[in-house]
Amino acid sequence: MKRTFALVAALTTGMVSIAVAENQPNFSDAPNNPFVVPAQRPQATYRFIDPGLPSLEGEDGVSAAGGVSNVIYLNNCKPNGCAITPGGDSSIANRSSIPDQASTVQPFAYSDAVWQQVVSCVRATYASYGVQIVTDRPASGNYHMAIVAGVPQNVQMQQGVGGVSPFSCGYIHNAISFSFANVYGGNVDDICWTVAQETAHSWGLDHKFDNKDPMTYLQSGPSRKAFQNTSGSCGEYQARACQCGGSTMNSHMDILQTFGSSTPTPPTVNISSPKTGENVPLGFPIRAEVIDDIGASKAELRIDGNLVSTLNNPPWVWNAPASVGQGMHTIKVTGYDISGTPAEASVTITIGAACKTPGDCSSDTDTCVDGRCVPGEGTTGGLGSTCTKNEECKSGQCGMDGAGNGYCVENCNPEMDGCPGNFDCIASGPSGGVCWPGEGDGGGCTTSSDSGGVAFLALGLGALLITRRRKK
Ligand SMILES: [Zn+2]
Repeated sequence: MKRTFALVAALTTGMVSIAVAENQPNFSDAPNNPFVVPAQRPQATYRFIDPGLPSLEGEDGVSAAGGVSNVIYLNNCKPNGCAITPGGDSSIANRSSIPDQASTVQPFAYSDAVWQQVVSCVRATYASYGVQIVTDRPASGNYHMAIVAGVPQNVQMQQGVGGVSPFSCGYIHNAISFSFANVYGGNVDDICWTVAQETAHSWGLDHKFDNKDPMTYLQSGPSRKAFQNTSGSCGEYQARACQCGGSTMNSHMDILQTFGSSTPTPPTVNISSPKTGENVPLGFPIRAEVIDDIGASKAELRIDGNLVSTLNNPPWVWNAPASVGQGMHTIKVTGYDISGTPAEASVTITIGAACKTPGDCSSDTDTCVDGRCVPGEGTTGGLGSTCTKNEECKSGQCGMDGAGNGYCVENCNPEMDGCPGNFDCIASGPSGGVCWPGEGDGGGCTTSSDSGGVAFLALGLGALLITRRRKK
């Protein structure tokens, strides 16, 4: 028995009310009154269920026990579509108050990659709340089923409807919401916005006149919506009072009151390069990994406690600023998940000890390059050691010449000529150089100035490509 109470939220409000919306005064939750874009977007609506209907809890052998299920099951209806029977809402029984007749929702029309992006976006949108978003049907217990598939006609709704949910101004147990993903042309943010809106309708949220909130009809805000922690008017294309009482709604607080907040799980942060204890050159690269189950939002680099840089997207890679000079330094990377939960990792490195000659260095096997101590010729992987790949060198840099000779090299400044006696600082790029074995080395290289222009072959990922050009 289906008794539809009312169908609200006009789907394609005409230009008149859109124009009105453009002339609305500013609202606290939309300080820059959005320039409303005409509604080309299929809109997500809701349908009141008769509040007088007897509760259907227990009918499927599951008692809601007055509680709220925190499980949201995203169902893409792949591969065969979702068969839905009309009746009182039950996710467990695939029964819904929306269709008039036995219906099949067509499967999600896009790739599994697009599906994964939609799932990630929905998880991100609900990350602050105590919900669990799953993509496999729970074997037991209560759950909301969000169908993310098909077109409105699959459940006898008209073209232009982007989604629909039963609505009762409160949490509906075991509801089924419909987000008609196949009308959005594979646009992940549009599908995600609709799923957020339809699921939230089933726990009592109205449309909000706020272009940043997924409960909005307005297209003018950011493409990726987030539940806003601000009280503001309800409404589609203009502000109105809220269907469930009051003149304002706060989406974030309403959902928080329904589910509570999530238990934040911090991301995992690892600095993969450099490693603690390494001697590194000036301007050394820093590489970090920030891994989170929901998503990483940013990473901050601190050197010796000072914030150097913040990245908002991977890769989490920096070069140390030139102002970070000789000596020991602490490198700290703080990663954040999308809820702002931080985690950090630190390494301590040394930018070669200061020296004028090799005798100034504490280790007998060290030598002095451009005023800093580096592992020298007497050390495995030290400056001038033969090598075939970067990993064999203490400096992490193996240079190769055209004759197949490879030597571990250290960065140097060609203007300073600060390499040890039997090495020359040759240019390896537009601004830097490396110490390369020079006269009498027997390595097949001569350093006479007329050999300029000989190309050194790069070997392996990140190996040096040295264009040999002696300082004259
Ligand atoms: Zn809606």
